Amino acid sequence: MTAPSPTPSATTASPKPTPTKPPKDTRKGSQLAKPYTVNGIIVVSKKHRITAAYRPPHPTGPYGLDAPAAAALTKMTAAAKADGVRIRVHSGYRNWATQNASYQKALRNYPQNISFYAPAGASEHQTGLAVDLWDGVTWSLPMANTATGKWLFKNAHRFGFVLRYPNGKTKITGYHYEPWHYRYIGKTDAMKFKGNSLTLEEYLHLA
Ligand SMILES: [Zn+2]
Repeated sequence: MTAPSPTPSATTASPKPTPTKPPKDTRKGSQLAKPYTVNGIIVVSKKHRITAAYRPPHPTGPYGLDAPAAAALTKMTAAAKADGVRIRVHSGYRNWATQNASYQKALRNYPQNISFYAPAGASEHQTGLAVDLWDGVTWSLPMANTATGKWLFKNAHRFGFVLRYPNGKTKITGYHYEPWHYRYIGKTDAMKFKGNSLTLEEYLHLA
């Protein structure tokens, strides 16, 4: 008996996914009012900045998040609550001017911690797609070990959020490990980040 042969593939190599080359970020001048986007995913970082003119297209709710991110956050908060875990928002949308003030203040007062801070135009918070989360009690790095930090680490991807600045990836992301900073990219893409060691830069072949 011969083994069933699926498709005539003897002469053709099975298709391999070719690494997608992202488009170059060629924006300049007024074009920087629109964010650099790869495969429909907005990328804002120290390498891909936006001007003060950019605002979330559909700011929603008390934190000014863009509508899809706000909806996903509501669902995620409810799911955590059902598990007995409290999610509070530390910081949502921030405009360019607020970001600039915060960065300048950090430069003056905490220059040793500047890798936690984004210069204006390099912060995902300006997109309304990023949110800093905690339990309302324990902030900064110890937040990672709270029930909230652990729950988010394990579950956020199911709601379309990814841990944007994982531990040990500063060289790639440009930012210190931030266990509180979650970025909404949608469920389909976020599910591929399970485990949280992947960065958006690696995922989009930017690093
Ligand atoms: Zn943040």
